[in-house]
Order: sequence, then C-alpha cells, then structure tokens
Amino acid sequence: MKKLDKNKKILLILLSILLLVVIPISCYTLFAPKFKVKEFESVIEIPLQSKFEGMYGNICYGNIFSCEDVKPEINGEVNTNAVGEYNVTYTYQVDHEELVEEQTVKVIDEESPTIEVTESEYFYCPSGEVKESYATAKDNYDGDLTDKMEVIGKDGKIYFSVTDSSGNQTTKEVDATEKDDGPVITLNGNTTMYVPLNGTYEEKGATSTDICDGDLTSKIIVSGSVDTKKAGEYKIKYKVTDSKGTLSTATRTVFVYAKNDYNAPNGKSIYLTFDDGPSAYTSKLLDILKKYNVKATFFVTNQGLTQGYDNVILRAYQEGHTIGLHTNSHNYSIYASEQTYFDDLYAIQSKVERITGQKSMIIRFPGGSSNTVSRSYDNGAHIMSTLTKAVEAKGFRYFDWNVESGDAGGAYTSSAVYSNIIKALGNNSTYMVLQHDIKSFSVDAVASVIEYGLAHGYTFRPITMDTPNVHHGINN
Ligand code: ZN
Repeated sequence: MKKLDKNKKILLILLSILLLVVIPISCYTLFAPKFKVKEFESVIEIPLQSKFEGMYGNICYGNIFSCEDVKPEINGEVNTNAVGEYNVTYTYQVDHEELVEEQTVKVIDEESPTIEVTESEYFYCPSGEVKESYATAKDNYDGDLTDKMEVIGKDGKIYFSVTDSSGNQTTKEVDATEKDDGPVITLNGNTTMYVPLNGTYEEKGATSTDICDGDLTSKIIVSGSVDTKKAGEYKIKYKVTDSKGTLSTATRTVFVYAKNDYNAPNGKSIYLTFDDGPSAYTSKLLDILKKYNVKATFFVTNQGLTQGYDNVILRAYQEGHTIGLHTNSHNYSIYASEQTYFDDLYAIQSKVERITGQKSMIIRFPGGSSNTVSRSYDNGAHIMSTLTKAVEAKGFRYFDWNVESGDAGGAYTSSAVYSNIIKALGNNSTYMVLQHDIKSFSVDAVASVIEYGLAHGYTFRPITMDTPNVHHGINN
C-alpha cells in the first residue's frame, strides 16, 4: 500500500471535522426551531385609565426560513386606575420550549389639573396676598386641589398655579386690581348715646378689621371725651390706620341732656299725647315721664279696658299731666248728632271731674277733627263742621296732632314708633305727637323719644288752655 504523504493526511482530518462537527452544528443552527425576540421592551409607560392587555411586541418561534408569532401567557396585575409600577411576566411556550420575559409597566398620569376662576373682578392686597377664593383646581387623579393652589397678586394680575401628584402643572392668570379698602371700624354700643346730666358715660370702644391686615382693634386710637356735668353734644372719634397707611375714622355722638324744664321759655316744643287710656301700661308710662320730668297729656276714655284705672288718672293729674277728654264710649255713633256727641263728651268730663276735682276743657275728637268716619253716622249733616265750632263756642279747646307715631296701625314695635316720631321732628315750635297708652310697645318707645328730644333742644310740655292750635282740616 502506497503510503499517504503527510499533507494528505492533514486534509483528511480537516474534512472529517467538517463532516462530523461543523456541518451538523450549522444545520442545527439553521433549521432547528427556536424563539426569536424581534422586539420586546422591558420597561413601558401607559397612560392612566388606558386599556392594558399586554405589550409583548414580536416574539416568534421557528427557524431561519419560517417563524410564527407566539402569544404568551400574561401574568401580573396592572391597575390602570392607579399611578404606579407593575411587573408583568410573559411566558411563551411552544412544544417543549419556554421563554419568559419580565416587563415593568408604569401607569402614568399625564393629564394636568384644571383651574377654574369663578369671579369677574379680582383684587389683591398690596402684599400680593389674595384674600378671596377666586378659583378652584381639580385634577383627574388627585381630585380637588384648590387648597394646594398657589395664588399671588402682582403687577395687575393674579397668578394661579397648581401641580398634581404626578408633577403636572397648570397655571392661570387673570387681570386684577391691587386694592386695600382700608380698615372698617365697628363701634361697640350705639353710635348715638344719651347720658343724663351728672350721669355716667362708659366708653365701650370699637373693633376694627382690615381685609388685608386682619384684626386692627389694638391699633385704634380713641380721642374726645364726654363731660357729663355739662349738657351738650360730644363727639368721640376712633381712628385706625392699616399697613398701607389708609386711615379710617368713626364717630360716636354722645348727648348729655338736662332734665326737662317744661316751663322753659318758648322754643321747639313736643307735646306727648296719649289717647284711649288709661290702661295697664299707664303707670309704667307715668314712671318714665317722672324720671325725665316730662309732663304729657292723656286723652282718656271710659271704655271697657280703662275700667279699674281711675287711680291712674288721679296719679297722672297729681303729677302735673293734663287730663284731656277723648270720649266716654269711643263709639263713632256719637257722631250721629250734636246731642249724642255732647252727651258722650259730658259723660267723660264728669268722670274726670269726679276723679280729679277739675273740669277739663281740653278735648280730642275720636278719629281727630279730620275724621271721615262720622259721615257714616250723621246722615249727611257734616257733623264735624258743626262740632268743631260748637265745642269752641262752649269754651272747649280741641287738639289734633301733627306727628303720627303709627302705633294705631303700621308700627308694631317700639323702635318703629321711635323712628316715626323722631323723623317728624324739625325746627318748628309745636310738635304734637299721637300715641296710645293702651299699646305697650308704644309706651316702651317713650324714654328714647324723650332722650332724643331733650338732647336735641326740645322742651316737652303738657297741653294747656294756652297751647297753640294743632288742627287738621275738616273732611266731612
Ligand atoms: Zn281714640
């Protein structure tokens, strides 16, 4: 046998390696099926509230010539309603091959909050502070963020800014005005006070708030004083300045009034007159009048509810008040004729005389001389025209009124009675006020009316035979 040379021997070995090792490995590599990952992201982001069914890209199983997409089994929960990171596992399985891929799913909130302004005019303090809640902030994920909103006023604008928990920021601006209204002063107690001569004035102070500075009460400066030994009008002034220098002031007026001098020389006079009594409230009224040394006039009747108060009529008389005659019955049928009127008038005159010992000649017609109710009873006789002349011919004097307290209708509280009376007062010499001492709220207004009158220079007087006429026109 011919011996092979050395080179041929090496070639043979190489060929054997090729046949036995390289070719089979290459064939296996090319033709044996296996997973191929064409694309797979290990970290993905998806928006809040989106639908997630897995994102596994393209993974196929096969060889170099053919490769089929494989659907994995997905494990792991992704809550797309909650921002966060979730782990998902994809398991691909074909034949006995298995591939596992891990993925991190980030559920993210990309939606910014919304800011809604609620007004049409905007103001901010000089410090930039905004005192009003002008806007609301809402977020798809965080809900109401109004409290977290930053608000600042500057250079004619208000800037709103809010950031949600995922860092999404929203800003908004509106045109605005820098404004400082200045402090508001509120007096403790009444702005007008009445103090009797030699009485006590207690300074009740005031409080102050400022829209930008808050409570400024401690910065109030009070000036002025009240000399309760001297009748007159006193002003107490309250001043406060806010941090911007805006000054506010308030004033309290205090009247120190002397007791009524009903014998004072002529001037502005108030005649308090009370009809239809006496009643259960008349004693209290007499106490009030006594306190202020005021003399008034009572136009009394003898109707049901006055029964049992003869002693009150006597007291009023003894204390210097005028007892006038209103009517015995207070029934408008007295206007049927001159006869029926005078029968009634003489009846009440006798009663008063029996109580006081004095024959009163001062009268007030029921309904006043201007009443129209008499037409319903006088058969066209125009009785008021007759009576107004007849009473004067017999020496009586009749008095109507020129200040309506409203206590017979329209005013139902003492403050309403009070304001009706004081708003009617001016600089005339004679104010005749109509009240009814059968109304407790009307009686309750008297002290305030007297304090006001005394402090404003009026003298309270009882009606006498010398009092100037206060007559309505005749309307019958
Ligand atoms: Zn009456």
